[in-house]
Amino acid sequence: MQRFDPNQLAVRSGHFIHGRLVTGDADASRDVLRPSDGQAYAPLPMAEADLVDQAVDDAYVAWRDGDWARRPPRERARVLRRWADLVEADAPTLAPLEAVGSTRPVRDALAWDVPFTADGLRFFAEYADKLGGEVAATRSDNLGMTIAEPYGVIGAITPWNFPLVMASWKVGAALAAGNAVVLKPSELTPFSVLRLAELAVQAGLPAGLFNIVQGDGRVAGAALSRHPRIAKMTFTGSTSTGAAIMAACAQHGPKPVTLELGGKSPQLVFDDAPDVERLAGIIAGAIAGNAGQVCVAGSRLIVQQGIAPALVKAIARRFAAYRPGPTWEDGPTLPPIISRQQALRIDAIVQRAADAGATLRGGGPVDDVCGAGAYYLPTLIEGVDAGNPAVLEEIFGPVLTVQTFATEEEGLALASHPHYGLAAGVHTADLNRAMRAMRALSAGTVWINRYGRSNDFVIPTGGYHQSGIGKDLGRQAVEANQRLKSVLIDFGSPV
Ligand code: NAD
Repeated sequence: MQRFDPNQLAVRSGHFIHGRLVTGDADASRDVLRPSDGQAYAPLPMAEADLVDQAVDDAYVAWRDGDWARRPPRERARVLRRWADLVEADAPTLAPLEAVGSTRPVRDALAWDVPFTADGLRFFAEYADKLGGEVAATRSDNLGMTIAEPYGVIGAITPWNFPLVMASWKVGAALAAGNAVVLKPSELTPFSVLRLAELAVQAGLPAGLFNIVQGDGRVAGAALSRHPRIAKMTFTGSTSTGAAIMAACAQHGPKPVTLELGGKSPQLVFDDAPDVERLAGIIAGAIAGNAGQVCVAGSRLIVQQGIAPALVKAIARRFAAYRPGPTWEDGPTLPPIISRQQALRIDAIVQRAADAGATLRGGGPVDDVCGAGAYYLPTLIEGVDAGNPAVLEEIFGPVLTVQTFATEEEGLALASHPHYGLAAGVHTADLNRAMRAMRALSAGTVWINRYGRSNDFVIPTGGYHQSGIGKDLGRQAVEANQRLKSVLIDFGSPV
C-alpha cells in the first residue's frame, strides 16, 4: 500500500508506560494536526511533571530489578534484532502512521524511514557485545581494567522531522548498552513511536525498559531533563532547546548530555566539479528534500564564479519541477511544512533577506494545495552577503542562498559559519583541493562529491560548535550510553 485515505487511518494515542498505552487525563489533551491539510486527527494527552515521575520511576525499577543490564549481551542483541524484524514487517502500518502526522511522504516512509529505522536497530544490536572495556597497561602483578556499564535510565527528547528514525537512534543505542529509556517525542509527531514501543515489547523487551511520555517541551521535556533518576540526557532538536536542556542538566545533576542541534550547512562548489546536471540534482535534493526540514540540509551554496551561472540555472530548473502535495498521495514531490506557524517563520526570514538587499528567484508560500496545509516552494536567494539573515539563520525550509567566490581561500572563508558546524559538502574533481577543504571546514561531517548520510550507520553523526555535543550513530553512540568503571586488582603477594 502506498496512497492512503488519512480519514480511514486508526491512530492510537497515549503515553506508553510499563509495556502498555496509558491514555492520561482527557481534559489535559490537545488536538494534533496533520501538516498535509491542517486537520485535527487525534488528541494527545499532555504529561505534567507527575506523569513524567511515574514513567521514570517505572523505568528505573524495571531496570534495577530486571535483568536487562545483566543478561548476556547477545540476548539483548537478539531482542533488538527481533524488534528490527517486526518493525520492517510492520511497514504497512508504520509508514502511513508516520506519513499522516509528519512531513514524510508515505512513499518515502515505506522505502526509507521504516527500513532505515529497522536497520539502525540492527546496527545497535551488533554492538551489544562489542564494547566491554579495556585492560590497562599496569605493573605485571596488577590487573587494571575499565569496565563499560550502563547508566541506568536515559532520557531522550526528539524532534518532528524524522520521528521514527530520530527516536530509533536514541533508543537503539541506549538499550543495546543495557539502559532503560524514557522518550519524549515531539508533540507535533507523537504517534508512530507508540507503535515502535509496542513492537519492542512484542519482540521481548521487558516492560518498562522503553517508556514514552507525551507532552509539551517546556513541561514534560523539562521535567524529564531535571529528573534525578535520569542519569543522562540525549536530545535532538534546535540549538536553543539544547542549551535549555544542558542548563537543566547542569542545575539538576549535573549529568552528561548528547546534543544533536541545528545547522546551516554549506555546499562548496569549485569550477572543476564534474557533471553540472548531476551536481544540480544533489544540491537541489539536499535543500528541497523533506521541504528543507532536515538538520543537515545544504542550505548555503558557495560556488566558484566560473560554474555559478550554469549551476544556478540547473538548480532553478529542478526547483521549479517540485510539486507540493499531501504525504498520503503518490505523486507529489514536495511535502508540507510541519505547521502554518513554521511556514510563516520561513517566509519572515525570506522577507527579511529581501529587505536586506537579496534577490529572490521563484519559490515562496503556496496556498490551496490541500486544505489548511502549509506548503513552501523551493526558493533561491541570490545577492546575499555573509550578514544576510538568510545566510546566518537556520531556516528549516526549502530555501537556498547563493554566494560566489573567486579563490579557494575566499570560498573556504564564506563556507564557515559564526555559530553552526553540523555538515558541509565539497564538490571538486581535484583530490588535493578536496582534502584541503575537508581539513579546513569546521564541521562534524564533510561529504565530498556527494551530500547526505548513507546507510553506513558506523559513521557517527554530530556537530561542531553550536551544532551539538557528542555523536549519534557509530560506535561512539553506544559508548555515549555507557559509563566506565576503573578497576585495579593487586595479585602480587599471596594473601
Ligand atoms: P525543538 O528544539 O523545538 O524541539 C525538539 C524537542 O524538544 C521537542 O520534543 C520539544 O517538545 C522539546 N522541547 C522544547 N523545549 C524544551 C525544553 N525547554 N526542555 C526540554 N525539551 C524541550 O526542535 P524541532 O523544531 O522539533 O526540530 C527542529 C530542530 O531540530 C532544528 O533546529 C534541527 O536542525 C534540529 N535537528 C537536529 C538534528 C541533528 O542530528 N543535529 C536532527 C534533526 C533535527
